[in-house]
Amino acid sequence: MTSLIEIDDARRMVLERASALADEPVGLADALGRVLANDVHGVDPVPAFDSSAMDGFALRSADASGAGPRAPVALRVAGESRAGHPSAAAVGGEDAIAISTGAVIPAGADAVVAVEQTRSADGRVEVLAAVAPGDYVRRAGEDIRAGQLVLARGTRLGAAELGVLASLGRGEVSCVRRPRVAVITTGDELVALGAPLTPGAIHDANAYSVTALARQSGAELRSVATVPDDAQATRRAIEDALEHADIVVVCGGVSVGVHDHVRPSLAALGVDEHFWGVALRPGKPTWFGARGATLVFGLPGNPVSAMVTFTLFVAPAVDALSGAPGDLRRTTATLTRDYAKAPGRAHAVRCRLTLGEHGWRAEPTGDQRSHILTSMLGADALAIVPTASGDVRAGERVEVALLPHGWPGIG
Ligand code: AMP
Ligand code: MG
Repeated sequence: MTSLIEIDDARRMVLERASALADEPVGLADALGRVLANDVHGVDPVPAFDSSAMDGFALRSADASGAGPRAPVALRVAGESRAGHPSAAAVGGEDAIAISTGAVIPAGADAVVAVEQTRSADGRVEVLAAVAPGDYVRRAGEDIRAGQLVLARGTRLGAAELGVLASLGRGEVSCVRRPRVAVITTGDELVALGAPLTPGAIHDANAYSVTALARQSGAELRSVATVPDDAQATRRAIEDALEHADIVVVCGGVSVGVHDHVRPSLAALGVDEHFWGVALRPGKPTWFGARGATLVFGLPGNPVSAMVTFTLFVAPAVDALSGAPGDLRRTTATLTRDYAKAPGRAHAVRCRLTLGEHGWRAEPTGDQRSHILTSMLGADALAIVPTASGDVRAGERVEVALLPHGWPGIG
């Protein structure tokens, strides 16, 4: 770890080696959180026909242009157009057709008068307000024009995208295959949940937090393994993971201690190192490499460091392999408290975002040391205080990277 690289340079190096996986057809009901492999264009206009925006009467506006509360215009009701049941009759002269919201505007009509502006009696309707051409008419193609680009490839499909695809009549879309992620946690001290804590032992937090982050990022979690600080076991676990994953994430054992076996194992398995050491706290010993198209991350074992570095480097890689851009969602906010810092490394400060009088405020969640995992509870964002920065005063504006909100139902 001779020289540390900047966070943005590290992420750029990751993204340079992360290209989209193959496409596959996905039914719309299963497509939440998936990424489009192709652009989607409108074929037919949406909506497909001119329709009414109100319950009321379709008419020729010229017949009722002079109508008013004291000058009602009486028209004969010549039929009805209901949603899904267009009227067979057309509007001729001095007549109207009763119409429901969403129903087809009948031939001959150019406007709708809302039912609230009318009085009905004996098969006739009295129009009590002036009507202008186009009143309460929703035009065909107002939402989507035929041939229009509706969704670009690389778009992750959320609720709105699924609704729009359904409105286009698309029951199936082409999506990029989800990246398969293998997670390996390392350490003699790790004890599985349910087993008693022997002296010096700790529970394996990363097996749960890091795997949850993998799932939230849209990856398919293929395996979770735990290995002791043993060269052979470490190598075997990584070798196995390389066989079935697009992204291998090893937590812990990537530092410079005599019991850290991850880097020698990776070297022996032909995984090329691209960087080791990021100017970041927490997260300095982060390692990244690749064997062929398979990306490998060595994340520091401290639970906060593992979560922070997953967010900053692995989640963008999952995105890129999924065909999405791999950008962090960023904004700025003012720190609510003084933050002590020496220049030399960027700091990722866990923060809660609140809305203040002058925009977003970032409230640090408490003790920021890398083993204080409860500092991640309730955190919405990481404030990124740059490498060269010293102390930050309350009220100063900082960049914040939003923590992922997850894609429920997938993973
Ligand atoms: P390492 O990166 O292996 O040097 O570990 C750094 C610190 O993180 C040590 O205090 C480890 O005990 C702790 N640690 C490593 N892996 C985990 C894990 N899976 N869950 C919780 N703590 C861990
Ligand atoms: Mg360790």
